[in-house]
This record gives sequence, structure tokens and C-alpha cells, in this order.
Amino acid sequence: MAIYLDCNATTPIEPEVAEIIRFYTEQEFGNAGSRTHEYGVKAKQAVQKARAQIASVIDGVDISDIIFTSGATESNNISILGLLNWAKKNEKKHIVTTAIEHKSVLAPIAYAESLGFKVSYVNSTKSGVVLAEEVLSAIREDTFLVSVMHINNETGIIQPISKIAEGLHKQDCFFHVDAAQGFGKELNELNHSRIDLISISGHKIYGPKGVGALIIRRRKFKRPPLFPIQFGGGQERGLRPGTLPVPLISGFGLAAELCRKNQAKRTKVNSSFRKKLFQSLEGLNYEINGDKFLSIPHTANLSFNGLNSEAVMLVLKGIISVSNGSACTSQNYEPSHVLESMGFSEERIQSAIRFSWCHMTNEPNWNLILNKIHSLL
Ligand code: PMP
Repeated sequence: MAIYLDCNATTPIEPEVAEIIRFYTEQEFGNAGSRTHEYGVKAKQAVQKARAQIASVIDGVDISDIIFTSGATESNNISILGLLNWAKKNEKKHIVTTAIEHKSVLAPIAYAESLGFKVSYVNSTKSGVVLAEEVLSAIREDTFLVSVMHINNETGIIQPISKIAEGLHKQDCFFHVDAAQGFGKELNELNHSRIDLISISGHKIYGPKGVGALIIRRRKFKRPPLFPIQFGGGQERGLRPGTLPVPLISGFGLAAELCRKNQAKRTKVNSSFRKKLFQSLEGLNYEINGDKFLSIPHTANLSFNGLNSEAVMLVLKGIISVSNGSACTSQNYEPSHVLESMGFSEERIQSAIRFSWCHMTNEPNWNLILNKIHSLL
């Protein structure tokens, strides 16, 4: 079986997490909304425990700040589309975002644009980072939302979230951060109290797929005026109606707790994997799409000069599982909008391969990988 090096697409699950999902699927299967019996009470307790486990990963987050969703895609949609009604009523028209966001941010923003809202897209530098000053200077009088991702899924580059938050001190626009890739992994950038909305996902933190959360913080005692994009039974304060998936939520909660507890240990393992990867590839002619010093230690986006990524992936089939472009858009391959924003040539973009690993990743046969890539030269 090939060694899985595509952890930014989805991570393997922690065994303890799989166990708790099974427990709440088979044993404690109650509906957290049932108030008339013990089954419901136990399910609700499990949900509240998960809220506390997730809240404790970021400074200053209260359990009442968390609403559960189906994943970061939904959290991003609620954050962006949910503010449009308020913006219209308050004659605000403008959104600031970056050209390197995930499609689940770019697509709802494009929809807002189709309704007449105006958008400024800040480009990335060659190292994969957007500059806080550029984000801040794009803000106008009528800006109601700034949306910037925490860690880029393709390059692993950590964006200057706390610096942007700091610069927003005197602005009243809302600040949304898509933290699907960084929550529980990079623990500093999300702690700033000026961040209003944070999107997170279960399957990027060794938890289950199909569950995520939106963290909605109070600023000056008030939460962002989100309007629901779905209507139903009023769960999650009416913002995300639907029966709560208690098994997934319990798994997500435990996965978050493990992230916080084991972060230092995991970072160490990931850094040593990265060191081996770069040592093993020494001698090959490649460029790093990003910057090692600005990246999380479990992602490397590399372009092997003169080699198309499809050809490289073909010779590595069965040895390692990697990706080009982000998994979510790879059905219809189009050149990465992230690498385009970084200003790279089409040839370099077509050579790009993303390696992403985690603390559970086994060591691949680096010699074999090196030989296979050499065979293409
Ligand atoms: N944002 C980013 C940065 C991501 O990497 C992903 C997943 N590829 C998402 C959002 C979407 O998350 P989910 O799969 O939980 O909907």
C-alpha cells in the first residue's frame, strides 16, 4: 500500500477518536434535542463536552461561541452569506479577501459579487504569504468583511492573522478566518480577540469527515449579526438547524483535545519528517513553492524542474500518495489559483506536487522515490 502523503486533503483518524464515534453510534445513540429522557440528556452532554474540548484550543473562546456545522465549507458559507443581509441594511458593500483562499470562501464571495457587492482580492507574494499591510490598506469606508485564511492548504504557508487582527483595532468590519488547515496545529495566530469568525473542520485534525464548526465570538458583547442560510428546527441558535450528529461531534471534540495536548510532540515528529524529505531529495532539481520558514512543518509544495506533475505522480504510484492542486478541485484539473497568485509560470505550476504528512505517517522508501524521479530525467 502506498504511503499516504496527502494529509492536507484529509487526515487519518486517531484510533481513540474512531472508538468514541463508534460508542456514540452504537451505544449512546440518543438525539441531543430530546428533552424527555436519559438518551437525549446523555447525547446533549456529549455535545457540550465536545464544545468545551474545541473551545479550549483557542484563547478566549467560550462554549457558547461554537456552532456545529458539516465542515469548514459550510462554516465559510454561513460566515460570508450570513452577513449579506446586515450589510445591505447598513449600506455596506465591500469585502476584502485574498486570491489564495479555498474555493469554499471564493465561491460564496463570487456569489456576493453577482448580487452587486464589491470585492478586493489581495495577491500573495512569491513566498505564499499575503501581506497584512496590503489586506489592511484594501479596507474602505463601506467594507463589512475581511476574510483571510489561516494556513494555505496548497503551500502550508501561515498567514499573518494576528497582525491583520491587530491592524483592525480601529475598524468595525467583521474578521473571518478560514482555519480548516491550521486549527489545533498552529496555536498562535488564532488567539487574537479581534477575530470574529473562525471556520474549522473535523477531518483535518485526525477526526471524522462531515463535521466542523463555526466559532462566533463576541466583540464588545455583541456577536456578528449572522442571518441563517438554512431554516428548520432551531438547533445551534437557529444558525445551523438540523439534528446534531452526536457521534461525529464527539469524535471532533476528542480530536481537538488531542491536538492541544499533543501539539508540541506532533510538531516535532512532523519537523523531523520534513528534514528527512529535504535530505532525501537533495541533488534533484526542484523549487519550493512557498517558504520553508513561513510554513507549517507538515507540508511541502515542490515543482520538479522540467517534469510535469502528472508524470511524477504516475511513476510514484503505489509508493506514495500525493496530489497536485487541491483535492477539492482536482476532478477538473485547472492550474492552481494559489500558485498563480504567487506569480509562477504555467510550467512551474504544472510541475507542482504537494506532499503533506502528519504524526501518524510512516516513512516512505526515499531511495526508491529518488530513483523513480531520476528515471524521468
Ligand atoms: N478551507 C480550507 C483551507 C481547506 O483546506 C478545506 C478542505 N480542503 C476547506 C476549507 C473545506 O473543508 P471541509 O472539507 O471541512 O468542508
